Amino acid sequence: MFRWLHERRRRRLLSTAFPDRWRRFLARNMWPYQYLAESQQSRIHDSVRILIAEKNWEGCAGLTLSDEMRVTIAGQAGLLVLGHPGFYFERLQTILVFPDTIIHRKSVQAGGIIKQDQPISGAAWQGGIVSLSWPDVLTGGQHGADGHNLVLHEFAHVLDGIDGEMCGSPPFGKRDLVRRWAKVSRLETDRLHTASLHGQRTFLDHYGGTNESEFFAVATENFFERPRGLDENHPEVFELLLALYQVDPRDWDAK
Ligand SMILES: [Zn+2]
Repeated sequence: MFRWLHERRRRRLLSTAFPDRWRRFLARNMWPYQYLAESQQSRIHDSVRILIAEKNWEGCAGLTLSDEMRVTIAGQAGLLVLGHPGFYFERLQTILVFPDTIIHRKSVQAGGIIKQDQPISGAAWQGGIVSLSWPDVLTGGQHGADGHNLVLHEFAHVLDGIDGEMCGSPPFGKRDLVRRWAKVSRLETDRLHTASLHGQRTFLDHYGGTNESEFFAVATENFFERPRGLDENHPEVFELLLALYQVDPRDWDAK
């Protein structure tokens, strides 16, 4: 499509009023929404409208998609691009929503291997597909500050895949940040992996020790949900994610 036509369509879409009903979905199903500044809420509204209009949404395994599902998912994903106005996960094409945990018949997940037929909450696939279990989307969105949010996790994989590979190399832009992230994420992934082998308790979920791709996704969940804890326990990870996301979730951290 011609770029100007695309831009004109977006401008028209964003000039319409954001429905009150959609605002209520966000207030109910996205815990940081109430703490966001008005300008940030308005940017979330932009993400919601663009993602709903431009991505292909499908209800799977008999699920009928509702506005609440689309708004909730798009709103939570919008947190990741809050600091990058005008970017709406361009490589992502399709969002699949399931009524329950997903049984994947394929064996390769973003960055890691999952066993055949293992039930999972969601996945992000190279090539522009995200699949999500609706009950898990809801739980993650309604319960903040626990470091678990499925939408943030899977959409972090999408950001990671912008360079064509989901391997734990998010788009930092600046070369020194890329280098620092590569170093710290390798180190922290190994530490988590070792801690999980020894059954030691860690601030970040042991799943982050699977590989650097999962480390980035898990660190992202905690950056947005437990920013102070991440800063305390992993200051360099926090500092680098602050540079990446260009937004400071400590501002809306109720704790
Ligand atoms: Zn993952």
